[in-house]
Amino acid sequence: MRKNNPKAGVTSNYLIPKGPIKLMPRCMFKNKTKSQQAAVINRGHLIPCCWLDNANTLNHPIMKELLKVSKINEVEDIEQILFSKEWQEFEKNLRERNMDKILDCCKHHCRLREDKDKLKIETHYGKAGGVEFSRKSRM
Ligand code: SF4
Repeated sequence: MRKNNPKAGVTSNYLIPKGPIKLMPRCMFKNKTKSQQAAVINRGHLIPCCWLDNANTLNHPIMKELLKVSKINEVEDIEQILFSKEWQEFEKNLRERNMDKILDCCKHHCRLREDKDKLKIETHYGKAGGVEFSRKSRM
């Protein structure tokens, strides 16, 4: 079933609008100050950016394909990961805006937000420095 429907059994905690999305993948920005860099997760995998480092996204079939070839201690050179068929496919889908093959996490973080489609994220820290609560709301 999952083979025909890559979203079968996959949960997403992102609210993605039903209409068209203008995607601007920050991992592909040339301007380094505004771009997202690749990141390493605590299990030793390289991932395209740190926003993908959450349980729902890491368990998505698209990410599982990437993670299979992304273990840093299993390659001699990072380029082996970056130029792998899986990473090239991930990049191609972003570049060509193949929306059905793009993670909800990417649609959430890297879509152009206009008019009322703005998101406000508040994180409140207690005196001890720990997070007391965090909330997201639309503006
Ligand atoms: S969320 Fe997706 S599209 Fe945006 S920078 Fe990260 S990998 Fe690229």
